[in-house]
Amino acid sequence: MFNRSRRNLACWFTLSMGSILVLFAVTTYYLRAEDKLEATDRLLYRKTRLMAASVEYELSEGKPQVDLERVPVLGSGTLPLGTELAYVRWYSSGAQLKRFFGEPPSQPLEISSGFRTVRSSDRSSEPLSDNTARNNAEKVWLRQLTLPVQEGNELIGYLQVATPLSDIRADLRQFQLALTLTMLVTLVLIGLTGWYLGGVAMQPIKQTYNQLQRFTADASHELRSPLSASLTNAQVALMLAAECPQIQPSLQNIIDSTQSMNVLVNNLLMLARYKGGLTPDLLKPVNLNLLVSESAASYQAQFDAQKIRFIICIPEQSIEVQADSDLLKQAVDNLLSNACKYTEEGETVWLRLGAYANWATVQVVDMGMGISKKDLIHIFDRFYRTDTGRVRGGDGFGLGLSIVEQVVEAHGGRVWATSVEHKGSTFQIELPIRSRLQS
Ligand code: ADP
Repeated sequence: MFNRSRRNLACWFTLSMGSILVLFAVTTYYLRAEDKLEATDRLLYRKTRLMAASVEYELSEGKPQVDLERVPVLGSGTLPLGTELAYVRWYSSGAQLKRFFGEPPSQPLEISSGFRTVRSSDRSSEPLSDNTARNNAEKVWLRQLTLPVQEGNELIGYLQVATPLSDIRADLRQFQLALTLTMLVTLVLIGLTGWYLGGVAMQPIKQTYNQLQRFTADASHELRSPLSASLTNAQVALMLAAECPQIQPSLQNIIDSTQSMNVLVNNLLMLARYKGGLTPDLLKPVNLNLLVSESAASYQAQFDAQKIRFIICIPEQSIEVQADSDLLKQAVDNLLSNACKYTEEGETVWLRLGAYANWATVQVVDMGMGISKKDLIHIFDRFYRTDTGRVRGGDGFGLGLSIVEQVVEAHGGRVWATSVEHKGSTFQIELPIRSRLQS
């Protein structure tokens, strides 16, 4: 129980810290990408402005003439800007391509000045200064700037320049890898810290719980003697009161209540004593075939009296487990007792012993009233009783299944239940097999 809570605490801690970490990493990545793009844009803008400044314009014989000869890249064909440019294009003011360097445009110019990130598959869109990269036909991402060029107030054309984003992408990929690795290491550290903190947080709870267990065990133990004294005295008084019928019901009431309290005290003592695993000296080789037959025999009369068909399936092959036979018998008895309580006359109850892989299984199946879905998840809780259970179950305390669960878990096993309301329930105990011998 404590380990489960500790694990849950550690998981929640890791999950919450992990989410914050992921958020932080995504923001950092986003900011870095923004930063890089901004730097690229600044540089691209400066170069485009420089080119635009070299465009010469004059009116010859009343007609506007644009001279691009002195424009870097477009005019001379050299790369005086010393930078990686994918293409440079000059469009007239009517958006017609007049001259270009690098990749020719695949579509007519959309007059949307400003920055855009575009994708290009053409080899010539690779950096002009990087010949090896030109052989790479992969699609590349480009940052493109379209700048309207004006002379005075008159628009004389558009200069479109693009630069590849491969460096930024490579840098971001590396950054992403570094972030992922750092995050993984940090998550492991957070998990370990969560586990440690969970342990520290559990300490006082564990102590309090142990004290409570000890108190319950001591109190139940101390209550047993006065209870049995009361019971004996009440039984003796009932015998002596044979002549006095008026006080007999009162004495019978005392006996019933004392017996019921006795059951409760014994159940509480059991729950308090066998919390956690059993010490190895308590575990002995137990033949489950015998144990299950004994339990079945002790309930046969009760099933017969209630006219319930009781079918027992025990294999010939011996199934042995390491167990405390009294505790284990108590667990099987509790399941059979419930099957008796919650099954109607004329219905059937099966008790089956079996094995699969390294597990022995004891199954109690009934065609009784069944358990609703909302109750099914609680039936192993202490003192939990369903409403119908209260009516049908008589003097039960809602501790029977808690005891089954505790006993089975103390033996390293597990117990589970399935049920369909008004159709019946199946309870299965699974225990690790010690050995399976041929009989
Ligand atoms: P109780 O002493 O009340 O039987 P248990 O812990 O054995 O306590 O069972 C808890 C509740 O689970 C019962 O009150 C009952 O409602 C339900 N229950 C247990 N076994 C069965 C069963 N075989 N069929 C239907 N309901 C069951």
